[in-house]
Amino acid sequence: MSLFIVATPIGNLRDITFRAIEILQSVDLVAAEDTRTAKKLFTKFDIHTPLTSFHAHSTDRSAEKLIEKMKSGKSVALISEAGTPGISDPGFKLIQKAIEVGIKIVPIPGACAAIAALSASGLRMDKFIFLGFLPRKKGRKKLFTSLREETRTIVFYESPHRILKTISELAEALNPKRKIVLARELTKIHEEFFRGSLDEAVDFLNSKKARGEFTVVLGGLDKKA
Ligand code: SAM
Repeated sequence: MSLFIVATPIGNLRDITFRAIEILQSVDLVAAEDTRTAKKLFTKFDIHTPLTSFHAHSTDRSAEKLIEKMKSGKSVALISEAGTPGISDPGFKLIQKAIEVGIKIVPIPGACAAIAALSASGLRMDKFIFLGFLPRKKGRKKLFTSLREETRTIVFYESPHRILKTISELAEALNPKRKIVLARELTKIHEEFFRGSLDEAVDFLNSKKARGEFTVVLGGLDKKA
């Protein structure tokens, strides 16, 4: 009885690992955030394992059902819509509950947008913090103020509808010359990196309609500058 936490591609389907395919083919059940995306992956890699839905709005009862299955000896793999389960995606509560009842947790590492963006950003990556999706209202201002003194690189996710607003607010809250990298559509046909300062990023985003998925890598405060 094991719970496999299986990373899946964030765009390019060839970014799946051999081990991820083997695990998805051999477990008794795959719990997927989005069964439609999962089916595409299954078709491409000849996976015929039964699928069940497990998403952010799944009840505690759905998590318990999965736990019961694992306790009865079945192995389950958890996948999210893209990337690493649990990273700004569902999974945390299931993993926590599984650990509580003594189920073995096995990570099957692979794609993660935050790490892919950071690795290609050209900004310091020896120390970084990951903020997931930023708060939309409560705590947002306080967070932005705290980032003024943050010396580590900051990575977060943002939707295309909110990216201009967020970057504009950051340019106001921080030094507009703070370095920033916008990683768009990673691993996909229209993959693109914007590298520059916060005020240049605002101009860049104002110059065309933001489309696709964005991961933001914001430089930390450079005390020497
Ligand atoms: N668990 C996922 C991971 O490991 O990367 C992240 C899931 S989170 C719900 C989705 C967000 O990740 C998107 O809104 C976007 O900010 C970022 N993201 C996902 N795929 C991306 C890609 N191909 N390029 C850039 N950012 C991406």
